[in-house]
Amino acid sequence: MLQVAVVGSGPSGVYTAQSLLQQSRVPGVRVDVLDRLPCPYGLVRYGVAPDHEKIKSLQNNLRTVLADDRVRFLGSVEVGSGPLTPERLRELYDAVVYCVGAATDRRLGIPGEELAGSYSATEFVSWYSAHPDTDENGFLRVARSAVVIGVGNVAVDVTRILARGADELRSTDMPQSALDVLARSQVRDVHMVGRRGPSQAKFSTKELRELGALPDAEVVVDPAELALDPAWADPTSLPAVNRRNLEVLRGWSERAPQGRARRIHLRFFLRPVAILGTAGHVTSVRFERTLPDDQGQVTGTGQYEDLDAQLVLRSVGYRGVPLEGLPFDAGHGTVPHRAGRVLRDGAVSPREYVAGWIKRGPTGVIGTNRPCAKETASSLLDDAPGLVRQERGDDPLSALRAAGLRPVEWTGWQAIERAESELGAAQGRGSVKIPDWDGLLRAARDADDRA
Ligand code: NAP
Repeated sequence: MLQVAVVGSGPSGVYTAQSLLQQSRVPGVRVDVLDRLPCPYGLVRYGVAPDHEKIKSLQNNLRTVLADDRVRFLGSVEVGSGPLTPERLRELYDAVVYCVGAATDRRLGIPGEELAGSYSATEFVSWYSAHPDTDENGFLRVARSAVVIGVGNVAVDVTRILARGADELRSTDMPQSALDVLARSQVRDVHMVGRRGPSQAKFSTKELRELGALPDAEVVVDPAELALDPAWADPTSLPAVNRRNLEVLRGWSERAPQGRARRIHLRFFLRPVAILGTAGHVTSVRFERTLPDDQGQVTGTGQYEDLDAQLVLRSVGYRGVPLEGLPFDAGHGTVPHRAGRVLRDGAVSPREYVAGWIKRGPTGVIGTNRPCAKETASSLLDDAPGLVRQERGDDPLSALRAAGLRPVEWTGWQAIERAESELGAAQGRGSVKIPDWDGLLRAARDADDRA
């Protein structure tokens, strides 16, 4: 038997477990999937926007893997700080695969980033996704105009949620408290701003198009700003996604104003230089106008534009964080590896592997994790003959309990799911997420106590 711990139950962790099970080279593989949270699925539960039901339904595929007899989900188990160090995990399991993602946001490094009203997009996403570590509820308290910095898919998500009415989101699993805040929102203008040109924006076309299909919002694009892009006149040499993005933007720039309740302004060639405020609260963001150079980058022009904002969401990408006891490449925000095998001081560290964003950085869509996990699983299976121990110690679950941990097992998670259905039914809605640690653990433990 080969006993593997996968740390992290997001797509990369679950796809790793799946790859380890769906092979015939090494019989008798058993996988424990550990997660710091009592709930599985990582960013599929806590990152994918609530109105993206189709992507959310990927949870059904991930569930099939975690419900397999050869897999145990062990939630509410933190690795790194506390008794469960990477060293201890290596003693308990034949191999450990770290799939811990990129848990924090990148910083802009400009003055005013810390002002009240300035948040990372990650904080906003965590709030509307009911992440139990988030207790902030004041994003929209005074906001009439919002600036979203960055033009990736996360920027599109937060812009769309800001521009949607609460009624449109009632059918999602968003907590009622977040819906109530959105229902009171006074935000009328959302400016989503890129430092480079429209042909270099990172969003995908499907996500971009959705902004133009919102019932109460209209997209405003300035044709003169689009025309600054060198590819504007002749986009034929662009990759398909960028070409399609330009077509969509061109269509919007030619549209007459529609007089809708909210406006989404898509802006380009503006580099943020400072977040400005009075009495400690954001009032505007100062941008420097940029122009394209011939390297695909931009240079400043010394001309500035201030955009009014009482809410700023910095959406400039995620970043991996070091896990205590595991090597870390601070420059890339990843764990050094060779084909998924962790490297310590340049040499392969036996029994330790990585997959997902902590391996390759925060890029790609959910499906990108499949080949990434497969490569890591394949390295692990190649190494398997040297990993299986003759002498097997305690069942790792008993060892975790002996160390004072109380994992939420699959039955506990199923109880959380039931409690979320009941919560939604009581509100006349579908399933609604429980947003706090106490509520989640109470639901999980009640099931344990009844068992
Ligand atoms: P991203 O795609 O890397 O986009 C980051 C954006 O921030 C880019 O526009 C980037 O501009 C800009 N930026 C970076 N540093 C900046 C700075 N100092 N000043 C101004 N702008 C700056 O990151 P993301 O949007 O967080 O998405 C992360 C990953 O998740 C992506 O692979 C994304 O596709 C994926 N995702 C997918 C979906 C979906 O499929 N629906 C939803 C959410 C997330 P430059 O290009 O100029 O650097």
